[in-house]
Amino acid sequence: MLKIALINEPCKVGDCPFLEDLSLPEIRYRISAYRRLSTKNSTRIPNNEYLRNVRVAEAWGSGWFAGETVVWVGCVHVLLEIDLVTKFRLMILKKRNSRVVLNKAYAHCLVGKNDSSEEKRFSRTGKTRKCSGQPKLATLLFLIASVVAQPLSAQVTNSKYGQADSFRQLDEILPTPTESRLGSGAPGPQYWQQRADYVIQVEIDDEKKHLTGSEKVTYHNKSPHTLRYLWLQLDANIFAPDSDSALTSTAPSLSRISTNSLKRLRTRQAFDGSMTVTKVVDGQGQPLKHTLVKTMMRIDLPAPLEPSESFTFEVDWNYAINNSDLVPGRTGYEDFEKDGNTIYEIAHWFPRLVAYTDYAGWQHKQFLGRGEFTLELGDYELSITVPNDHIVSASGVLQNPDEVLSEAQRQRLETAKNATKPVFIVTPEEAEKNESSKPTGKKTWVFKADNVRDVAFATSRKFIWDAQRHNVEGQSVWAMSFYPKEAEPLWSRYSTHSIIHTLDVYSRYTFPYPYPVAISVNGPVYGMEYPMICFNGPRPEEDKTYSDRTKYGLISVIIHEVGHNYFPMIVNSDERQWTWMDEGLNTFLQYLAEQEWEEKYPSRRGEPKLIVPYMRSSSQVPIMTNSESILQFGNNAYAKPATALNILRESILGRELFDFAFKEYARRWKFKRPTPSDFFRTMEDASGVDLDWFWRGWFYSTDHVDISINKIRLYTLASPDPEVEKGEKKREREEEPKTVPSQRNKDLPKRVDQFPELKDFYNDFDKLDVTENDKKAYEKFLKSLDEDEKELLLEKRNFYIFDFENVGGLVMPIIVECHFEDDTKQILRIPAEIWRHNNQKVSKLFITPKTIESIQIDPHLETADTDVENNHWPRKVIKSRFQLYKEKKSKNEMQKAKSLQKDASKDTQK
Ligand SMILES: [Zn+2]
Repeated sequence: MLKIALINEPCKVGDCPFLEDLSLPEIRYRISAYRRLSTKNSTRIPNNEYLRNVRVAEAWGSGWFAGETVVWVGCVHVLLEIDLVTKFRLMILKKRNSRVVLNKAYAHCLVGKNDSSEEKRFSRTGKTRKCSGQPKLATLLFLIASVVAQPLSAQVTNSKYGQADSFRQLDEILPTPTESRLGSGAPGPQYWQQRADYVIQVEIDDEKKHLTGSEKVTYHNKSPHTLRYLWLQLDANIFAPDSDSALTSTAPSLSRISTNSLKRLRTRQAFDGSMTVTKVVDGQGQPLKHTLVKTMMRIDLPAPLEPSESFTFEVDWNYAINNSDLVPGRTGYEDFEKDGNTIYEIAHWFPRLVAYTDYAGWQHKQFLGRGEFTLELGDYELSITVPNDHIVSASGVLQNPDEVLSEAQRQRLETAKNATKPVFIVTPEEAEKNESSKPTGKKTWVFKADNVRDVAFATSRKFIWDAQRHNVEGQSVWAMSFYPKEAEPLWSRYSTHSIIHTLDVYSRYTFPYPYPVAISVNGPVYGMEYPMICFNGPRPEEDKTYSDRTKYGLISVIIHEVGHNYFPMIVNSDERQWTWMDEGLNTFLQYLAEQEWEEKYPSRRGEPKLIVPYMRSSSQVPIMTNSESILQFGNNAYAKPATALNILRESILGRELFDFAFKEYARRWKFKRPTPSDFFRTMEDASGVDLDWFWRGWFYSTDHVDISINKIRLYTLASPDPEVEKGEKKREREEEPKTVPSQRNKDLPKRVDQFPELKDFYNDFDKLDVTENDKKAYEKFLKSLDEDEKELLLEKRNFYIFDFENVGGLVMPIIVECHFEDDTKQILRIPAEIWRHNNQKVSKLFITPKTIESIQIDPHLETADTDVENNHWPRKVIKSRFQLYKEKKSKNEMQKAKSLQKDASKDTQK
């Protein structure tokens, strides 16, 4: 076990005695900013540059091989989360006979305001050693896991060079290609995936807010493996009072709390929305042994399920639906007190097959709330029974319009087929009327959805419904929106338009939208996606006005959630493992779609400059981190990957190569299940560009971009003509600054003037005078040159050497704009590979006949460079404004009490 001790004052790098007496003194790594990826394919990212310059460590547990040596940095992740650590040190382990033995281990962390004191240290023998001259040690915080030999790490540092190899290929990190997943990133000839078809009946009890369901599932074992049991996800169990999600949620800040938050805290403890499973039987009605494991359920098969066999079983269940105001989630109901009605948005509501995959077996990582859903594709038949005055919207195509829609509504649907604008199917007036109706019975709405990974639905008597059929690259798609009057006037204006816009833009960058329906519903859930249907929250104020934030928030969230049909509903990535694979890719396309909505659309994510504050921030983990362990969720899994892809597209590959490769990825993995390596490999395979350095830097590390122009050196060719060259040197000598003593000594009487006989040849000799010998040598040199060589001599060129420094650690192309004396400009785009031999400092030669006046790195803010101040040579004045204000004294408590009295007496006088 390794222990991390904390000390309460800074210890400068290098002065720790434990570092001084290392048995392997050549590896005194000064480590910082390493991240541990708490993933199955655990990888580690050191960043030498960062730690050399920044002595702040915000490390996550991390280890890597460096030649014979394994370096392990303890897990400080938890420390950071509780705001204790600002700094810490390293441990060095030695690897012997391929077993890792702890050789020297020492780590200490600084605690900002911690003054409790306790000391714990660790060495191989377990002896506690005093760190001489060190400040008092503070609390031992925790232990980290036993030291084990780590697999190859994300970066390998060479002990004889002290630099990580930023361009090392990712082969040792990515899984070995197979005939299922090829080295090219494409699915291979042996690719397989399971399939599950569902026939579901569900009823909503509007009085009790209760859902009762019954499903018949046919599971097709397409794998080459024999299965003895099946796993199902009961995601509603997240709403059990003792669910892992509830038990592991950490304490909120209680210094201030809103009444709503307090209500939620109270309700969350009492509410039980977990599933009651009432029946699990096989196709013949025989009970099946089943075991609940929190949000999962295992069904033991009566006989092993062989490859290419199918198994049919039935499950009945019911649960209490959560009031989304008190127990928020991706599903729930919203009560409207004014009219006594409810909107239900129902999701992750039926027992769903856990994905069984070639890369992970059963993906039955428990549902904690963040890591969404990893599901199998299949065909669904869905019967939804609700009060007969409800309007239902669901994944799939309505099968029984004659039974559930009025004649007028069916007629309007006919009109909407060829409309160029959305048409009301249920008008606002009708919806308003429905609100005051009472049901006279029940109705069952039947939907069919083919080749989807999930189904969701919404139901309410409040719904206004508009629709428009649209042609998406040859495919007819119904774009439809369902919303209450509270959503107006925003929704009828923007929702269906946003759906159609999304389908048009996304289809262009990926594949034509393959489903017949795309629906956006307004209800309690702010933004959540399911196949063919999504739930979106923004509404105007009660007085029907709305802010620009609400307007663009609505358009953006609809683009985003409809866009999720492509990732991960169709390109069926593993959400419980990787959030970025759907959120990152989707946010990237969302940005492209937003920019095609209107000029200067206020996109929140996508532009490199918008990611800068996050890239600079400290509490970070790499994008390649499991969904549940991500810090700064939105920035990590949405904004950073979206921005990285945008940069890859605009500044590294160019639009043509990027768009081709991205489309190829979407095409290859449509209705299949890709992993990160399939994405990384396909983007390289199709673009023809090695991007391992890019994935390594942007996806596997928390480095940021900060490239500095440190210096510019100018060289010119010396002239062989002694008249020119020596004359030039004389001028330079004249221009040299006169030192203070030389100026003051100038007028002192000199001895040689007093005694002229002391002067000889050297008193008059100037070695910069042109001699006869010089002239002869020049003539001879000229004669030896041919015409081409003479021309070289005549050409006037400036040889500039730019000295760049990589301060942030992330290697990136260097984009240099040169401003010349003659008021012209030129942009040099230097590929990232310039850093391949030295990822910290590089020099670049630039030859020009012109004279450079200034240069600027990344002039168009393409690379998310976090410090633009050092992008200028010469450095620029940093401009800012400050405001003048007049000080106002706030009232003291006595004054406040007095003015209250005054008010009160005024009131009584009235
Ligand atoms: Zn999303």
